[in-house]
Amino acid sequence: MKFQPDNNGYYGQFGGAFIPELLYPNVKELKDNYIQIINSSEFQEAYKDLLKHYVGRPSPLYHAKRLSEKYNTTVYLKREDLNHTGAHKVNNTIGQILIAKYLGKTKIIAETGAGQHGVATATVCALMGLECVVFMGETDIKRQAPNVARMKMLGARIIPATSGSKTLKDATNEAIRYWIQHPETYYLIGSVVGPHPYPDMVARLQAIISEEIKIQLKDQTGNENPDAIIACVGGGSNAAGAFYHYLNNDKVELIAVEAAGLGVNSGESAATSQLGEVGVIHGSKTILMQDDYGQIVEPYSISAGLDYPGVGPLHAFLHESKRAKFMNATDKEALQAAYELTKIEGIIPALETAHALAVLPKMDLSKYNTIVINLSGRGDKDLETYIQHLDK
Ligand SMILES: *Cc1c(COP(=O)(O)O)cnc(C)c1O
Repeated sequence: MKFQPDNNGYYGQFGGAFIPELLYPNVKELKDNYIQIINSSEFQEAYKDLLKHYVGRPSPLYHAKRLSEKYNTTVYLKREDLNHTGAHKVNNTIGQILIAKYLGKTKIIAETGAGQHGVATATVCALMGLECVVFMGETDIKRQAPNVARMKMLGARIIPATSGSKTLKDATNEAIRYWIQHPETYYLIGSVVGPHPYPDMVARLQAIISEEIKIQLKDQTGNENPDAIIACVGGGSNAAGAFYHYLNNDKVELIAVEAAGLGVNSGESAATSQLGEVGVIHGSKTILMQDDYGQIVEPYSISAGLDYPGVGPLHAFLHESKRAKFMNATDKEALQAAYELTKIEGIIPALETAHALAVLPKMDLSKYNTIVINLSGRGDKDLETYIQHLDK
């Protein structure tokens, strides 16, 4: 199993667990138990039951006929935007909250950038009656007011991160610091990042996406294999889930799309695979954007969910091994793709998702009969940005 991590959490040279000694017992407890918990019939029953009745799964696999016509291929959209809370993130928070409960934890901490993971975490904490503390950069608290309000209404306590650029990476640093001081809490990480076993655990919890795609595509076309699957990559969790059951199937091309911001070489970008080098960030060895002194370079994207200076170790390995093809889309291209999908299919995608849609015009589509695009989230949260740019 080439794309499964080894015992120490390494995908090739990437991964591992670079953590302060005080966190060893916590991370070890999780590492020693997560696979057994996830594979237990008790967990599977509870997880699948909540995904069905609470989240609304299976999410539809929708044949986008007008989009297909425009690009002269067959495009299916995996509708993660229709999940409760509006994105794929809840698949992971449902899974981890159950794992936290199995481990006897009563208090949950999480980091959030745009607030999407914070909302998904606060939601499942409300569902389970667990205490929830969310770390969020002060800058992000100001620019993501609706999600801050949602989290508060859901009963979460929000702690502002006031160091550095006061954004996601600073919130993550604060969360880790708090975790060291309160090792009895469960740290619920929102993407396939962080120390082992988080990247593998989150990938397994998002794998429901490709599990369903296989069944639904077979149902609709007679073949479970598309020619390509396209997904946007911030940390990489929706892409990991959409790719998961196809990783060892060379017939299916995997296309990961990063945010190029104002352009890959503009200095205002988040295209980690193009700009990054090997280093350690938030507990794992991966590729990340850094300067000559190893200091993290501030990423930029119009989409808060893709505005992260690294990618998960699985994606670093998919890039290095060339199993996945890495493409990117600028702010402008993403906006155009969002307007296009809205006009011709009546679906307003999240800005993150719009980056995945934006590569269609850049591909030679004559090679592809069937393409699946993972529609990671809905665009309600981005309406203000969409309206601001509408006339430009
Ligand atoms: C958070 C988010 C992303 C980026 O996170 P990944 O871990 O890379 O999936 C993408 N799309 C949406 C809608 C999001 O909310």
